[in-house]
Amino acid sequence: MNAEQKKVVMVVPFLNEQENIPVLYDRVCKAMEGQPEQFEILFVNDGSSDGSPDWIRNKAKEDPRVRMITFSRNFGHQLAITAGMDYADGDAVVIMDADLQDPPEVIPQLLEKWREGNEVVYAVRAARVGETWLKKFLAATFYKIFHAMAKVNVPLNTGDFRLVDRKVVESLREVRELHRFVRGLTCWVGFRQCAVHYERAARLAGETKYPVWKSMNLAWDAITSFSGTPLRWVTGIGLLFSLCGLIFMLHIVIQTMLHPETVAQGWASLAALTLIMGGVQLICIGLLGQYVSRIFEETKKRPLYLIREKIGR
Ligand code: UDP
Ligand code: MG
Repeated sequence: MNAEQKKVVMVVPFLNEQENIPVLYDRVCKAMEGQPEQFEILFVNDGSSDGSPDWIRNKAKEDPRVRMITFSRNFGHQLAITAGMDYADGDAVVIMDADLQDPPEVIPQLLEKWREGNEVVYAVRAARVGETWLKKFLAATFYKIFHAMAKVNVPLNTGDFRLVDRKVVESLREVRELHRFVRGLTCWVGFRQCAVHYERAARLAGETKYPVWKSMNLAWDAITSFSGTPLRWVTGIGLLFSLCGLIFMLHIVIQTMLHPETVAQGWASLAALTLIMGGVQLICIGLLGQYVSRIFEETKKRPLYLIREKIGR
């Protein structure tokens, strides 16, 4: 190994991926053969309870390029990526899932763009194989909404699979917000960004750890941590309803003057209006509460994650 040789660290967050990790290791090694950079795989164990940590522990004994940090419990995928970037000390970091949906064979392409001077090389998926139509539909809708609301321009159809230069990693380490949407943050930091296209594979083995409700949570976190637009919408809805109420009131005044006998029968519409107004107010307060609870959680300044064990080096 010469002193100028650069190092790339693959950050791989995982939760119970014992069938996939050995294959991932082999395919990463194969993909990196002949590349001028040396590499390391930093696994982030996000509270796994299967055999995957044992396999990594054994592998680390024979291959010093394998490292692992183990969380004290499950903290979630986004925080696992964050921890990986905190502990990776390479010249570049590649974030990839452990289920081989992000094919290691794309890494040389990412590296090539990086060598050309790009500081974030994100992988854009051309196809989504093996995912339900519901997930595809929700993902497409989310990206549209996020695009419209957030000031940052997150490229469509990107996941967390990307290469980030050390400079970007160092910038991201300074961002310590709890509700994180990492792919939004890597755009927010700026730097020179470029894309590489690839076909997203189906998960090699095991079940998805991201059921639809978890994806929805991530989407909500993404929107609320990047944009106050929902609050503006709510103000707009309030104005709209006030206007409707005003028009309705005018209508009643005129009605009273023209046909006084019909006005007394309006109790049903009154009940409906009260219900609607009550509902709208509760929705607005609930939305406000979401932002307030975000403030509450951030002011506690708890650590983002806790580490139980470190393996390698
Ligand atoms: N993952 C994690 N913690 C979690 C959930 C998932 O580290 O709480 C890992 C998982 O093992 C995988 C990656 O995050 O390596 C992406 O998860 P998954 O493939 O289940 O999501 P999908 O690709 O179906 O959206
Ligand atoms: Mg997956």
